[in-house]
Amino acid sequence: MVNRERSYKTEAIILNSKSFGESGHIYIVFTPNLGKLSINANGTKKPKSKLSGHLQITNRCNLVISKGRSIDTISSAETTELFPNIRENYDLINNVFYIMELFDVFNPINEINTDAYKLLLESLRWLNDNQNINLLILYIRMKILTMSGWDLNFSNCNLCFDENKENLTSISSNHGGAICTVCQSKINNSLTADAQSIKLLHFISIAPREKLLSISLEIPSIKKCLAISEFLIHDNLGFKLKTKLF
Ligand SMILES: [Zn+2]
Repeated sequence: MVNRERSYKTEAIILNSKSFGESGHIYIVFTPNLGKLSINANGTKKPKSKLSGHLQITNRCNLVISKGRSIDTISSAETTELFPNIRENYDLINNVFYIMELFDVFNPINEINTDAYKLLLESLRWLNDNQNINLLILYIRMKILTMSGWDLNFSNCNLCFDENKENLTSISSNHGGAICTVCQSKINNSLTADAQSIKLLHFISIAPREKLLSISLEIPSIKKCLAISEFLIHDNLGFKLKTKLF
């Protein structure tokens, strides 16, 4: 059956925007029920544009979108949730752009991923209330890898199944996570890691957000895990993200 509706409504979080034509922008938005969309808006470069105020990166909006032949166009936007503590913190905003890029590259256009949308929304709320950006990025990276179908296991060696945590000394994405000292010598492309970090990654990959926030983690431990998770993300994507973390 042909869908004759000329427009549709959706909730969305603005992931990114780029200049389009003389007066508009292309917006990359993430929605709960339609996945990621690439849509344009006209007149958003004009100083008095009402639309552009609503379409700021990280804003959660209700959109009305008109269908077009090659690209759909935003006809109205209304912000439903702002994250002011994020936007006003200069030190945070670059890392927030990193998070938005992470959700952008891991979610193909029109592929519905309601869990990833919920993760993004909960992450923005978390960051707005509690600005522990490093822990959040670690949490998002581990969840996003799982959501993209990588069932990484850090509780035993993924080759010989050795369960002694002290023997786990490297990470291999090709082999599904943790690798023991003996097996490390048999494989390529593994990243050496310490047993403590592997334990922490295991905890972060299975812990709910509330539990993660309730424990105190030392900054050096988080930084070590950040390096490992960056390796896993890069290995999964096959390229590095444009936005650099500060
Ligand atoms: Zn092993």
